[in-house]
Amino acid sequence: MNNAFEFNQPVAIVSGGSRGIGRAACAALAEAGYAISYCYRSPGEAALETKASIEAIGMPCLALQCDVSDAGECDTYFKTTLKHFGRVDVLVNCAGITRDASLLSMRFEDWSDVLNTNLTGTFNLCRSAAFHFIKRKSGTIINIASVAGVFGNAGQTNYSASKAGIIGFTKALAKEVALHGVRANVVAPGYIETDMTLDLGEKIKTAMLERIPLKRFGRPEEIGAMIRFLASPDAAYITGQVFQVDGGIII
Ligand code: NAP
Repeated sequence: MNNAFEFNQPVAIVSGGSRGIGRAACAALAEAGYAISYCYRSPGEAALETKASIEAIGMPCLALQCDVSDAGECDTYFKTTLKHFGRVDVLVNCAGITRDASLLSMRFEDWSDVLNTNLTGTFNLCRSAAFHFIKRKSGTIINIASVAGVFGNAGQTNYSASKAGIIGFTKALAKEVALHGVRANVVAPGYIETDMTLDLGEKIKTAMLERIPLKRFGRPEEIGAMIRFLASPDAAYITGQVFQVDGGIII
């Protein structure tokens, strides 16, 4: 892939695109006609599986290592994507981690790693993208929070704070950039079957299922579908909103 690529095709950046919800977001946007650039933290062949699957459906894909908690790396990643494809239309901030512990046993690193990755990582890529989007007078930002950021989860003060932070950040950002033709929204998933939730004990899973009115966990594709909708012209009048895709757990 090089700059000879025809830039009449829209381009989406997805952080944390190597696995789970991020991978599903890449697939959904590629199916909607977007060229994809995604980043991941851990190097290795597994990180490139998304790229292979996107290229298999005939869409161009750039995959780069970038730690979203590092502002310099984010800026380089965004600029490299821009140079490669010539434009960026959509940013999806999906990279995220958990370091669960009760407050009394939470180490400072558990707090700071989660805040730095989930919240500061979102800030870093939004800031890099905002310069470009405001200049172009168009662009869409979709930040992935969680229902934990809406109702708070015991054992996840760090994670809940980071996700509530993403919600407040996105609402403020939506107000700042609306006049420039840029939209920003949040998707707050409930319990979705990915690596992040794989290791939760059976007891916790059973308790969660009881609380979910639809009586099942969500699939990454179901979050990808919401992301695709929010990126589309059908969502042109939607900004500053939080969309919970959670099987009704929040009711
Ligand atoms: P996942 O399967 O664990 O995947 C996490 C992704 O984030 C991976 O691609 C990972 O890259 C990337 N990542 C982590 N730290 C990073 C960093 N510092 N820099 C760059 N990339 C980084 O998680 P998931 O379940 O798909 O979750 C995706 C998002 O949805 C997260 O923000 C999560 O909080 C949110 N969410 C998930 C659920 C759920 O039930 N699964 C519910 C609500 C919200 P590597 O592969 O390189 O580690």
